[in-house]
Amino acid sequence: MSDERPHLETLAVHAGSDPDPATGAVTPPIHLSTTFRRDADGTYPLGFVYTRSANPNRQALETALAVLQGGVEAAAFASGSAAAAAVLRVLRPGDHVLLPRELYHGIRKMVDGALVPWGLAVDYVDLTDLGTVRRAWRPATRLVWVETPSNPLLSITDLGAVSEIAHARGARVAVDATWTPPGVADPFAFGADLVVHATTKYLSGHSDVLGGAVIAARTDAYWERIRFVQQNEGAVPSPFDCWLTHRGLRTLPHRMRGHSAGAARLAAFLEERPEVARVHYPGLASHPGHALAARQMTGFGGMLSFRLHGGERAAMAVAARVRLFTRATSLGGVESLIEHRASIEGPGTTTPTDLLRVSVGLEHPDDLVADLAQALVG
Ligand SMILES: *Cc1c(COP(=O)(O)O)cnc(C)c1O
Repeated sequence: MSDERPHLETLAVHAGSDPDPATGAVTPPIHLSTTFRRDADGTYPLGFVYTRSANPNRQALETALAVLQGGVEAAAFASGSAAAAAVLRVLRPGDHVLLPRELYHGIRKMVDGALVPWGLAVDYVDLTDLGTVRRAWRPATRLVWVETPSNPLLSITDLGAVSEIAHARGARVAVDATWTPPGVADPFAFGADLVVHATTKYLSGHSDVLGGAVIAARTDAYWERIRFVQQNEGAVPSPFDCWLTHRGLRTLPHRMRGHSAGAARLAAFLEERPEVARVHYPGLASHPGHALAARQMTGFGGMLSFRLHGGERAAMAVAARVRLFTRATSLGGVESLIEHRASIEGPGTTTPTDLLRVSVGLEHPDDLVADLAQALVG
């Protein structure tokens, strides 16, 4: 089977992208219709009924996502947050979830503000420490939520070991793989049951569409409930959003190579600079999670962060001086972004104030290095 699987680049171009049978259009049309015709006998011969339940553009995107991620089915959502919410919402009040202490701040906000009041029990733990994971376990623990590398310190969790702990105790593992799309990591190969993406980021890749996805390793009752939440709570992406995300997907493997090469170059440059106290990038041999990352990733991705000897003032000053980088939050687009993460996350953040987070775009790495060099010196 694996011998016959085409390469990722080939799958990215072709999965879910057959020419339109009605017109021969090579690029898929956008199906804005919210409703679909029944035959005289009352059946729906083409399978579509109403766009909240299924739409041709969403179906094509879901096919492509499942194929690229190596899962069996995918469900597309209106945002990464809606995708994450669906995974957590199919649990029941009283169920317990382990989440990483260092977690994408929007998910923490959603969990604390909406899901804990609804009845979910949660603990935020250091998932990089397996002893902590075992000690935090409760009889009601149903799910472990993993983000590796973490945001924004890029610490590495041993996904295979965490999956083993969870599966031995009858729980599932969901991986937020927004930072590690297909081509950078394969969470299913390390035991993940569900892979979640903010397709807003690398999968769409052009900072012009919000979206999310959940991809399943297998179709079971848990997956059916996620599909139910998608179709009936209705946080679904529009046909145009699906079309844009699908368009972005076709170049994903090539973009990820460019992002990873650029990040590796910038990380090596920053590590040599006297103004820089620490560089957090798992591709660096000096990174404490480097060996583990090398085992469970096929590239090191396009995200890095670094900290300045001069503290918060120096970090803000460097961000103020960049010319090619754009000061903005988010990640995964073709343009390089830099941000002072602590001030975006706001009160209660655990992010160091001397830290800048960088999403390395697809500009030439020499130009990015030159821009940071002038910004560091001032
Ligand atoms: C952006 C992001 C999300 C949330 O996605 P939205 O589309 O903004 O809702 C979730 N996880 C990670 C790691 C992210 O970077």
